[in-house]
Amino acid sequence: MDAQYRGGGVQLNSMPCAACRKLHRRCNQDCVLAPYFPASQPEKFAQVHKVFGASNVIKMLLRSIVLIVAEFCRNTSIKFNEFTLLG
Ligand SMILES: [Zn+2]
Repeated sequence: MDAQYRGGGVQLNSMPCAACRKLHRRCNQDCVLAPYFPASQPEKFAQVHKVFGASNVIKMLLRSIVLIVAEFCRNTSIKFNEFTLLG
């Protein structure tokens, strides 16, 4: 029972997703990677990371999210620029 609490970081109750854990990113509820790479499947991200590289994975996911939002906006009266995700 030797709990290690080093540093002053806030301990999150939920585990970071597999991607954030691998990339040492801060994971939160808004993490775009969490739905694709749950903490319970670290090998999934490890494989993708090996093939594509982490930054490419993030870019691809962000791009696909933009496409999904664009498609959503096309089917509604919402203007796409109200959903600008990337600069
Ligand atoms: Zn995450």
